[in-house]
Amino acid sequence: MAGSVDVLRYCGNALHRSSTPKAMITKFQLTKKSSNRKTGPIATVRSSSNTCPADCPFNNGGGCYAASGPEAIWWKRLDESEKPEHTGWLGLSDQFREAKLTPGTLLRVNTAGDLPHLPNTGEILGNVVDLLRAIFEANEVVPFTYTHHRQTEHNLSVVDRQNRAGFTVNLSCDSEERASMMHRRGFPSVCVVPADDTRTGWRDEHGTKFVTCPAQTRDEMTCDRCRLCSKANRGAVVVFRAHGAKRKKISARLETAG
Ligand code: SF4
Repeated sequence: MAGSVDVLRYCGNALHRSSTPKAMITKFQLTKKSSNRKTGPIATVRSSSNTCPADCPFNNGGGCYAASGPEAIWWKRLDESEKPEHTGWLGLSDQFREAKLTPGTLLRVNTAGDLPHLPNTGEILGNVVDLLRAIFEANEVVPFTYTHHRQTEHNLSVVDRQNRAGFTVNLSCDSEERASMMHRRGFPSVCVVPADDTRTGWRDEHGTKFVTCPAQTRDEMTCDRCRLCSKANRGAVVVFRAHGAKRKKISARLETAG
């Protein structure tokens, strides 16, 4: 029953054992209407930092967008929150009930954080993600996210199940080659290119189509209008140019890796 205990820990609901370290409880925070210019007025969820994979290339000073600026402040507050509504999927369900979102609202999951997982193995907790998806379904929103978790057979099976069931989980890939391969295997995939990459759309030698995020190439474009990342069966890899305060660091890492 080790798996059951882990679920109770990482769901973080009222059933978690009193001896469980607080740092292990997963917390969620819903924002009903984002004021972010790039996303537009969509709903967003951030997850506590213990959901991030330890080996994420953006982690530990690698250029994570959520680790600096205002998002970092909100993220730290969530990590430290003791509020019941921030605690576990049950708390998130309460937040959705309170928010009364309009059906069809675009929901960006994990403006900070990733999918809940077991830290010792990196396995995504598929049953917890299923519970999250059930909340999204019940509230008739259009959910999408990105994951940097390792693309193991277990994790890919969880991601595939979400994508088939209406919660679009994009695979964040470390290279164009990897993104192309995973796209051809049926996964919605994204990757990052250096900040000075001027391409907007292209095909690679396998015929895989790549599209640079329209919010980075067209004025007035937002996620709310575009919605490309919410389409699990789209015909292209979405590409993001490194941006923000850490763009030089990210670009340098990509150029070294390339
Ligand atoms: S491709 Fe579209 S949905 Fe995805 S991040 Fe860019 S604007 Fe948003």
